Amino acid sequence: MPTADQNDILFDRARAVIPGGVNSPVRAFKAVGGTPRFIRRAEGAYFWDANDKRYIDYIGSWGPMILGHGHPAVVEAVQKAVLEGFSYGAPTEREIELAEAILALVPSMEMVRLVSSGTEAAMSALRLARGATGRKHIIKFEGCYHGHADALLVKAGSGLATFGHPTSAGVPPEVTQHTLVLEYNNIAQLEEAFALHGNDIACLMIEAIAGNMNFVRAAPEFAQRCRDLCTQHGALLVFDEVMTGFRVGLNGAQGVLGITPDLTVLGKVIGGGMPLAAFGGPRAIMEQLAPLGPVYQAGTLSGNPVATACGLATLKEIAKPGFYEALSKKTQSLVAGLKAAAAAEGQPFNADSEGGMFGFFLMNELPQNYATVMTTDNAKFNALFHGLLDRGVYIAPALYEAGFVSAAHSDDDIAATIEAARQIFKASGTH
Ligand SMILES: *Cc1c(COP(=O)(O)O)cnc(C)c1O
Repeated sequence: MPTADQNDILFDRARAVIPGGVNSPVRAFKAVGGTPRFIRRAEGAYFWDANDKRYIDYIGSWGPMILGHGHPAVVEAVQKAVLEGFSYGAPTEREIELAEAILALVPSMEMVRLVSSGTEAAMSALRLARGATGRKHIIKFEGCYHGHADALLVKAGSGLATFGHPTSAGVPPEVTQHTLVLEYNNIAQLEEAFALHGNDIACLMIEAIAGNMNFVRAAPEFAQRCRDLCTQHGALLVFDEVMTGFRVGLNGAQGVLGITPDLTVLGKVIGGGMPLAAFGGPRAIMEQLAPLGPVYQAGTLSGNPVATACGLATLKEIAKPGFYEALSKKTQSLVAGLKAAAAAEGQPFNADSEGGMFGFFLMNELPQNYATVMTTDNAKFNALFHGLLDRGVYIAPALYEAGFVSAAHSDDDIAATIEAARQIFKASGTH
C-alpha cells in the first residue's frame, strides 16, 4: 500500500480555506500542473516538503535567501531581536543602521524609506514620482512586474500571464489609462512614446535586468536611451530592483549597467526572508514624502525591528569581499553545465546569468522581450520542471520566472542538478 501523499492532503485542506490553496498565485503550480509542494523546513541550499522529500532549492523564496536558509549569523540576529520585542510603532536605531547600510551600497540613493513589501515600495515610488513631477503618465514595459498595485497591473509578467489575462479584474480602466506599456528593448517605441507624451510622463519604471519574464537583460543602448530620454523630458527614471538589488551584484542592475536612476525600488534580499522593502533616491525628491512633503505614505509595520535585524545581518554577509565573485562563479558553472548537457543531447537551449540570478530558455536564442519568452514550448518546459522535481531539484514552477543560486549551494549540488537535467534532456532526445 503506497502511503498517502502528504502534499495532496495539505493541498485539499488548503483549497478549502485559501483561494487556490495558496497565498500567492504562482505557488499553485497552475502553469505546470500537479500538486504544489508544502514546505516543512529549510536549511542551507535545501528544503523538505510534507513527505520529507529533499529538494535543492533554486527559488530561494523568489530571491531573498541569497545566503541559503538559516544562515547562523542571520538566525542569531533575528533571535536576539525577537527577544527585544516584535514591533513598537516608534522609530529605532536599527532602522537608521539599515538605511545607512543600504545607502552605502547604492550610491544613487541619498535617502531611503523602508516599507514591508515590493508591491508597496513600487506603488509608493510611483506616487512619489507623480507627486514630485506633478505629472500623470507612467511608462512600464511588457513582461516587467512591479507588484500588484492597480496602475502597474497592465500586461504584467508573472502570475497574470499564467492565467491568460492581459490585466486583472477589479482594476478600473480609469486607473490604468495613464500607464503606457511598451515593448522591452524596443528603442523606436520608446522614442515614439516620449515624442508623443514626453512632457506628461512622470516616470519610466523598469526592471533593468528583468526577472519576471524569465531572465532578460535590457540592452546597454536601450537602458542608456531610457536614461537620456527621461533626463531630456524631466521624467524620473525608476529602477525596480526588488529582484536584482543585492542579487546580481552589490550595486544591483544599476551597478552592472553603469546607469544612475533617479529612484530605486528594493525588496527581497534586503529583508533576508522577512517582509521588508524600500525605495529611495535623491534627497530633494525623497523630502517630498510625508511628514516633510505633500506625498503621503505610511506603514504600521514599516521598518519592523525583527525584519530590519534580518536584513542588516544579511547585508553584512553579502558585503564581505569576494561574496559576489564566488556566487557568480557558482551560478555560471550551473548555467554552463546546463548548456553543455542540452548540447550533448541535441536540445535547443540557451541560458544567461548575473551574480546569483539566472534564466534558461528551451530555444537557441536569448529572448530580448516578453513575446519571445512566451514562445517557449510549454509542454517541454513542464516536462523538464516535473523531471527535475522528481529528482529533487526545485526550480520556479513557470517558464517566465528567473532562478536563484545561493551561497549555500555546493559544487555537488550544482553537479547533481546538471546531471538531473541531462537525464531529462536525454529522455526527451530527438536526435
Ligand atoms: C517581487 C517583485 C516585486 C513585488 O514584491 P513583493 O514583495 O512580492 O510585493 C516588485 N518588483 C519586482 C521586480 C519583483 O521581482
